Amino acid sequence: MTAGGPVTAGEGVRLLQPGRAPAPGREPLVLGIETSCDETGVGLVRGTTLLADAVASSVEEHARFGGVVPEVASRAHLEAVVPTIRRACEDAGVTLADVDAVAVTAGPGLAGALLVGVGAAKALAWALEVPLYGVNHLDAHVAVCVLDGGPMPTPCAALLVSGGHTSLLHVVDIASDVRLLGETVDDAAGEAFDKTARLLGLPYPGGPSIDAAAREGDPTAIAFPRGLTSGRDLARHRFDFSFSGLKTAVARWVAACEASGRPVPVADVAASFQEAVADVLTRKAVDACRAHGLEHLMLGGGVSANGRLRELLAERCAEAGVALRVPRLRLCTDNGAMVAALGAQVVARGLPPSGPGLGGDSSLPVETVLVGG
Ligand code: ADP
Ligand code: MG
Repeated sequence: MTAGGPVTAGEGVRLLQPGRAPAPGREPLVLGIETSCDETGVGLVRGTTLLADAVASSVEEHARFGGVVPEVASRAHLEAVVPTIRRACEDAGVTLADVDAVAVTAGPGLAGALLVGVGAAKALAWALEVPLYGVNHLDAHVAVCVLDGGPMPTPCAALLVSGGHTSLLHVVDIASDVRLLGETVDDAAGEAFDKTARLLGLPYPGGPSIDAAAREGDPTAIAFPRGLTSGRDLARHRFDFSFSGLKTAVARWVAACEASGRPVPVADVAASFQEAVADVLTRKAVDACRAHGLEHLMLGGGVSANGRLRELLAERCAEAGVALRVPRLRLCTDNGAMVAALGAQVVARGLPPSGPGLGGDSSLPVETVLVGG
């Protein structure tokens, strides 16, 4: 298995034909499977209505390593995927025979973890004789917005902030036309939260720990740097992000504090760090809306659960006359509902299903919403 390249989940599966038509007057029922990292997620969505969102997480198995261990994640997916599919069906009060299409995360993500989901989805679609759609995990984080507010107002901008990615997108159509405006040139926002939390001795995953610690701190206590926001850096990287300088600045500040024998004011450092991240993300997102004449902004990805980011983005969007949509907290981090939501959008457009050669692509670009195969 090669890192970064396509991974094939087994050849010889016959081309899946579009399945039977759903009952008259009913939109198709789409089952979505997510296994790109450490969450095994299965969602059921009809149109833009969420019927079930079952998630089994292996996060506790990784906590003592301070990050996700790919092999541990793959094995956990193998054990969890069938029970999670069952649980989603029970929660929605449907049987597998009611499913009209299967959608699955085809990338980006951990190669072995993707393989488990794609393999399960292929088997399921083949057995049920319904079409299979391999979709992009990043676009699914954005598409989840349709479950809280209905069809996406397009064109729109999207700010995607997760553990592995930080991007600004111009969404012309969430099922078929997503354009990259800018992205991080080094660490992702979530990665910065995780690394900074470790530095402060806060538990993994770092985002929720910093979010909680910051509530007791002063966000103006320390003026941490805002990467790529001024001078030539800004001119060259108007919609790009950089968080590794911020992480280093926090490390230096903490080391200087310890060297002087003073206790580290964890809450103040957490609040000031979080403020720097939220400030840059929100400033650039609103600037992108203005520059591209986009009146709507979607927020997505694990970091969109961050309280300060949600608050500051709401404030700045209101000032700029941009309509903001944020997912409910439970749908920010990885889940199967977002995959089903994007699958339902793809089905609604009548796009062709993925072919029998569908595999996982650990570095699938955000512009590839639907994978052929
Ligand atoms: P992935 O990056 O694998 O797609 P997610 O989209 O679920 O995973 O994002 C996980 C990231 O979100 C982690 O880096 C985590 O620390 C971060 N995160 C989760 N909740 C919060 C929060 N409340 N504040 C900031 N970051 C958060
Ligand atoms: Mg994610």
